[in-house]
Amino acid sequence: MREFEFIEWIRRQGRFDPEVVAIGPGDDCAVLTIGGEKLLITTDQVLDGVHFSLVEHGAEAAGRKSAARALSDIAAMAGVPVAMVATVAAPKGFSQADAEAIYHGLQTCGDEFGCPLVGGDLAAWGESPGPLQISVTILGKCDGIDPVLRSGAQVGNAICVTGKLGGAWATRRHLDFTPRIADARILARQFAISAMIDISDGLVGDLRHIADTSGVAAELDASAIPIHADAAGRKDSLEAALFDGEDYELLFTMPPDQTDRLIAAQPLDVKITRIGGIVEGIGMTLLRDGKREKLDSRGWEHET
Ligand SMILES: [Mg+2]
Repeated sequence: MREFEFIEWIRRQGRFDPEVVAIGPGDDCAVLTIGGEKLLITTDQVLDGVHFSLVEHGAEAAGRKSAARALSDIAAMAGVPVAMVATVAAPKGFSQADAEAIYHGLQTCGDEFGCPLVGGDLAAWGESPGPLQISVTILGKCDGIDPVLRSGAQVGNAICVTGKLGGAWATRRHLDFTPRIADARILARQFAISAMIDISDGLVGDLRHIADTSGVAAELDASAIPIHADAAGRKDSLEAALFDGEDYELLFTMPPDQTDRLIAAQPLDVKITRIGGIVEGIGMTLLRDGKREKLDSRGWEHET
């Protein structure tokens, strides 16, 4: 089963009232219209053995990561988080201290963004073996900035990214990253951002979400990709930057004249890099050493 095919299937089942559901499944957040206000809602889960290791990283780090991932989805729409609820499925023998550590992880991360934990549910696996699982749902508001969708990229737009990519699992960066809520607000307020997503699946995987939902193709310039020092030890650090994921940087598109102004201004504490452009067609290509290579979600091959 592929996540995006499943989301498409869900979209086909849904009969959403457009008066309430402005944006349904398939973006970083859903957008609801309630009481004349646009509200954002997103949910995300982390699993022991997939998104963290309870033995290696501990319960507090797992709690923090679960909140930060959902907050990063609010950032991807340029929203402001309001409150979160969480559910925890605890493994057999889970202690009160571990449960408190998860709470501290969730709450301290939420506190950084004025997003308190206002409810939740704790269940235990009991006799049947099951891993620690934490799910976080966050409600957000728009506060004067229209939600930036994945679907707005246009032919001729530049593709930009914040920060550096790759190797997030070589260190604790996949746990300790700061969701780019304030940065996304600055970008969306000051520039005509046409589409945005946060990098969870990997640069190529997430750029594909923008390209597919926008009905365009994307070209990346290999020499422009900002490679994180965490990926430097790898045999192919470019491959790490393209495919690793969990960088939680902002990936966005915008008109070229706006991009020139943005790259010159560098209005964030973190550097913004132009890494490619939106073109007509379907799919993604990598320009490297004067050659054009076709990118899919796990690798590349020469175009003939
Ligand atoms: Mg996301």
